[in-house]
Amino acid sequence: MIDQQILAAQRLSRDEIHQLQSQRLRALVRHVYDNVPFYRRKMDERGVKPQDIRTAEDIDLLPFTEKSDLRDHYPFGLLAVSRREIVRMHASSGTTGKPTVAAYTREDLDNWTELTARSLALAGIDDTSVVHIAYGYGLFTGGMGVHYGAERLGAAVVPASGGNTQRQLTLMEDFGATALCCTPSYAINLAEAMQEKGVDISRMQLKTGVFGAEPWSESMRTRIEKMLHIQAHDIYGLTEMMGPGVAMECEAKQGLHIWEDAFLPEILDEKQQAAPEGEAGELVITTLVKRGMPLLRYRTHDITCLTHAPCPCGCTHARLRRITGRNDDMLIIRGVNVFPSQIEQTLLQIEGITANYQIIVDRRGALDTLTVMVELDPARMSDTVRDVEALSAYVAAQLSASCLVHATVKLCPAGSLARSEGKAKRVIDNRRYE
Ligand code: ADP
Ligand code: ZN
Repeated sequence: MIDQQILAAQRLSRDEIHQLQSQRLRALVRHVYDNVPFYRRKMDERGVKPQDIRTAEDIDLLPFTEKSDLRDHYPFGLLAVSRREIVRMHASSGTTGKPTVAAYTREDLDNWTELTARSLALAGIDDTSVVHIAYGYGLFTGGMGVHYGAERLGAAVVPASGGNTQRQLTLMEDFGATALCCTPSYAINLAEAMQEKGVDISRMQLKTGVFGAEPWSESMRTRIEKMLHIQAHDIYGLTEMMGPGVAMECEAKQGLHIWEDAFLPEILDEKQQAAPEGEAGELVITTLVKRGMPLLRYRTHDITCLTHAPCPCGCTHARLRRITGRNDDMLIIRGVNVFPSQIEQTLLQIEGITANYQIIVDRRGALDTLTVMVELDPARMSDTVRDVEALSAYVAAQLSASCLVHATVKLCPAGSLARSEGKAKRVIDNRRYE
């Protein structure tokens, strides 16, 4: 049964959303100005006072927040409430050194629960669902974030967490999982394990998947949907905002609805100016309802675009296009800009190879080398050496055409590349710049 309160929140009128945004932005700015010395200083430097912020459109008067600001104030320098009000902490592995901290008040946890509930409801999860959660539990926000949202909807939740693939399969079969939540790479991992074990997927109850926490592509979706006989939905989030459930794909699968009454999104160009609607840029988000550690204009470095066009599903919140990369993971190989997602796109369109790949970048003398390791489709394992050579040459030619870079392609037996139980490590960059 659809929860009426959740449905109403998904379908706020555009006027209501705008009003909530303006009202919440005013309260937020006052809250951080009064309680976070970092923001007071930044606003003072810009000559902006809380009373200057009247509507959501005034957002560009406010200062940005960078990941390095979080690091510089590690662990609690950006708290806007006293430590006594904090009831939970999570952390994500930082790119360098210290982790990124998320600190929640009771109210923050309630809001997170509502937002993940709204998100999961878009994937058809309700009180009849059995939700198998194979995101990691613990400091990582994935497991617990989705967990409370699913419980809030009245679903039966199986907190499997990551790891022990065989046991995951048994639990999914025996408990009759109808929904699977995990990273897309682990979904493929599970699907392969099912095939190996000879599980008859059509006899399982699985209907829907909620996959996120790492970039994936349309072709990967098709593959997962075929392998698991499900509808695969993309979920987006980041620890700095709360965790998963910031944005979520509905049944239309034409972008992820970002909960605009809780997050004020901006898409900015390279000069940090607003990009025209529909144009790609960096996603910058202001938290509108967070109390414990609210952030103004947080630079996610995720590249996407935003549309306010009405969605056939009836949800009124704007949609983000699937995250296509980050403006900081771009590889420059012999002067050519290459996104790992571009390489993935190309590989997934080629018959005879699987979605398991690894990109290795090295430097010989002054020359960058790119090696792409890909696993062969198990059906091709009996091919002759000549066939495999021809296939690698073909893959290399396709990569060179789509990414404009020469790659050495190494096809390897199915199952030979390291499997991850969380985020796949797709890129190994061995170059040193110092
Ligand atoms: P998470 O728990 O989502 O992994 P982190 O804070 O560790 O949270 O990482 C957040 C980052 O993960 C995002 O900024 C984005 O780059 C990436 N990410 C999360 N969800 C998605 C998604 N659905 N598609 C692409 N990238 C994603
Ligand atoms: Zn929709």
